Amino acid sequence: MESTIAIHHGPYEAIPTTASPGLKFLQRFLPALDSLTPADNPISPFFTPSAPILIGSDPPTSASQAVPLMEVRSRHICKIHHHVYLAWDIDLGRDIGPVQTSYNRTSPNEEAAQTGQLYAPLAGNIQMKRTVMFEATSETTFKEDPDQFAVRVREFNILDLEGRDESDLQIVEMRIFLDQRPIQAYSAIQGQAEIIHNVCGALDKYESKLSEINQKIWSNPELAFKEYNARDNICEFFESLDAGYQVNRKAYGVETALEVMYTRGEGGRIVAFNAEYDALPGMGHACGHNLIATSSIAAFLATCEAMAALYSDGLGYSVRLLGTPAEEGGGGKLLLIDAGAYKDVDACFMVHPFPVLSGAPDLISSSSCTGMYLANDKVRVTFTGKPAHASAAPWEGVNALDAVVSAYVNISMLRQQILPTQKIHGVISRGGERPNVIPASTTVEYYMRSETVKTLKPLTEKVLKCFEAAAIATGCTVEYEWEAAYKDMKINTPICDSYVSAMNAMGHNTIFDAVGQVGGLSGGSTDMGNVSYEVPGFHGGFYIHADGVNHTPQFTAGAGSEDGFKRSLHCAAGMAVVACRALVDESFATAIKSDFEKGLEL
Ligand SMILES: [Zn+2]
Ligand SMILES: [Zn+2]
Repeated sequence: MESTIAIHHGPYEAIPTTASPGLKFLQRFLPALDSLTPADNPISPFFTPSAPILIGSDPPTSASQAVPLMEVRSRHICKIHHHVYLAWDIDLGRDIGPVQTSYNRTSPNEEAAQTGQLYAPLAGNIQMKRTVMFEATSETTFKEDPDQFAVRVREFNILDLEGRDESDLQIVEMRIFLDQRPIQAYSAIQGQAEIIHNVCGALDKYESKLSEINQKIWSNPELAFKEYNARDNICEFFESLDAGYQVNRKAYGVETALEVMYTRGEGGRIVAFNAEYDALPGMGHACGHNLIATSSIAAFLATCEAMAALYSDGLGYSVRLLGTPAEEGGGGKLLLIDAGAYKDVDACFMVHPFPVLSGAPDLISSSSCTGMYLANDKVRVTFTGKPAHASAAPWEGVNALDAVVSAYVNISMLRQQILPTQKIHGVISRGGERPNVIPASTTVEYYMRSETVKTLKPLTEKVLKCFEAAAIATGCTVEYEWEAAYKDMKINTPICDSYVSAMNAMGHNTIFDAVGQVGGLSGGSTDMGNVSYEVPGFHGGFYIHADGVNHTPQFTAGAGSEDGFKRSLHCAAGMAVVACRALVDESFATAIKSDFEKGLEL
């Protein structure tokens, strides 16, 4: 027989008693769907037990699993209602004939339904087969919401119905297409408020301890790979807490590295915080790495405490604090990467202090400094010539200082032809011993920097040509010794966006990108860049009052100030909120991952 279509405009409550069987089914089914009394099990009678329920492109849930889902729903929702605009009932025909099934219709065999195929046709003679579709807006009000704000979601639903007659119709498949963004936005805001509350509580609780550690590291500056006191101070602090922290000195085979682990449940995601604590020669903490350590320790603690308070229901996750030595030279994080410290990490966080921006004095923080952290190759070049008396027999010598001068001039000329964002800078670390001896061996050290690893490679090749040309022209030989190269910093947009939102929600004026801000620094490099090529990384900036820029004694003073300490805690709160979200919010975690993977293709 031919298919016929019946259409109803308006709410389901207005479907007349004379309507077609599918529309009348809808009038009985939708109040059950909107019911929040799962104890009465109002929806099961409308479905065959293994009928697949598909939401968008998610894998199907069987109808038998829908009742537990309704129970969860009723714990959080106080009101739900589908406002139907338009409904269609398409009659697909009758007398389909006898169908064999593996379960008994009147008392559903749950086990068979679970293990068997999701779709199972009805037993007996099916005489009625219909597809009912409806377009609606669902309005949901959540119990936890003090404002009782109704979240509205547009939906389109398709129900496949089968039955022996009109009173016997059951759903054999339901497809729901809905715009989940309003729900996600709502739960992100609601969830964030609770997380912020717990994160701030934890930071208040540990403030004086954190201040102590910050002062200890600042007043005891230690150079790259010699940060023994910093390492021990941090480890001793966590050992004294005894709250399930697993403390590990000399982590990953690196003498002054450390790891503190906090693991709950089985599996789950992992977030990590990087604590740098190395100082600069002769200037103490002129880059403020004491504040980096403090903010990462604080963020780690706050994340663990907030997670324990809010998600004690068996959710699996790990929070990791890594003490990462030798950022100012030596690339401690590269050693940690090679040893597997970042393996399986889903998001890794740290913030770095800079002087307050003159153009934006009220700005506390920025989540990204695109183009600020450049890829950086570092090379030590040795020219070898031949010594001779500089006055009596200079023609006998091969002058290695000439090679240095020649290379220096070559590079200075090259500098005019490179991109404005690229940098080449070097020093002559050994230029000869005495004026009356032709220098036989000289050394220069050069840094080459460019916006990305990709654009750095051709620049470094050009600089090497300058050294080679100098060697050829002077008759010297040339040797290269490479230091750990730093990669540019990959930006993870979902992490940055979430940090900006969390910081501003807490009243700490924060923007996404500080590039172009008056007073901002540009052109540094960090081994966090290498981490950002391994896992989704965050390297935010925060602004402290100091009378000089990084790597000056004036900045050292700023890094030891009470104000600097307070600001490091503000940023710790921002990082902790984002870290908690990364652990619990599935769609946020997916967004972080796909942004990271997209970034690697660039
Ligand atoms: Zn520095
Ligand atoms: Zn630094």
